[in-house]
Amino acid sequence: MLDAGALMHHLWRELNAKSMRPTNPRLIAPIESLGGLRLGHFETQRARFRLYRRCHHTGWQLRRCATCDVVDRARAACLACSNGVTTDVFSRGGGFCVRHRRWHLAGDDQLVPSDDVLLRAEQALAGHLWSRGVTMHTGEFALASQLILDSLRERPATEGSQLLPIYGVVIDLLVTLTRPEVVLSLVTPAESERRQVEGLIGLTVGAGKGARTPELEATAARVVRKHRAAMDTAIRMPYSDRATIRRAPFEKGLAEASYREKAALLRHVTRSGRRIEAEDRAVRGAPPSRVVSRRLVPGWADRVTW
Ligand SMILES: [Zn+2]
Ligand SMILES: [Zn+2]
Repeated sequence: MLDAGALMHHLWRELNAKSMRPTNPRLIAPIESLGGLRLGHFETQRARFRLYRRCHHTGWQLRRCATCDVVDRARAACLACSNGVTTDVFSRGGGFCVRHRRWHLAGDDQLVPSDDVLLRAEQALAGHLWSRGVTMHTGEFALASQLILDSLRERPATEGSQLLPIYGVVIDLLVTLTRPEVVLSLVTPAESERRQVEGLIGLTVGAGKGARTPELEATAARVVRKHRAAMDTAIRMPYSDRATIRRAPFEKGLAEASYREKAALLRHVTRSGRRIEAEDRAVRGAPPSRVVSRRLVPGWADRVTW
């Protein structure tokens, strides 16, 4: 097997170019032919792995957009899949290789034989969570992990394996928390905030068989407060800073409010629900669509703490 660095040097020499990004089309064609791949192989592959998301090119519908061309953040591939060579991939899925039953994340690569919980979790992440536009890097995963960790009386030990024992239940909770009707019930200003906090605590404890700890109560209260405020912002968002009556399209308002108020679950809402007369407060207008469309890309919520 040829090392990636050596391959690049060979091609730069052949093409008489000192350096070139690996995504440059002048490099891609020779790489495809050297590897015995069909011409256009990488272009087709990339299209398959574009994320489902909302942008103005598709009228804010949940689609894969060739113009935005957003793929997931790269993560470490399973070492058995990559013949022992450290490789990054941005394909569907998360930390468990279904083929080789290996857990491969954050520098960790270990065999986990016959674990059906991990298997089901991985299938959910690569299956219906994928079609909802959810990956490990789009913000919701970190939120669900925090809730589950807070519901445990004893936290799993080290960084690398901390996620392994809770991966299955985090994904379970994630599947529930990203269902449009569930999110709406947890964020709508028309419901009582106290009931929503109780609902989120109940879902977390139910998924993880954990307990109602003070940490979980505090995190659930923060999550609900933040999302309620963001939902209110989305509903009221003016079309632009100068607009006084006209509102931004609802889905655009949701995307902008998710970003502005760091509310990772909000983009899974699909309708505004029952309206209530809330106190009037000033909401900044929506930025241009092309700006909002680029907001929620993988990694946007990396610095958000729940
Ligand atoms: Zn687009
Ligand atoms: Zn593998």
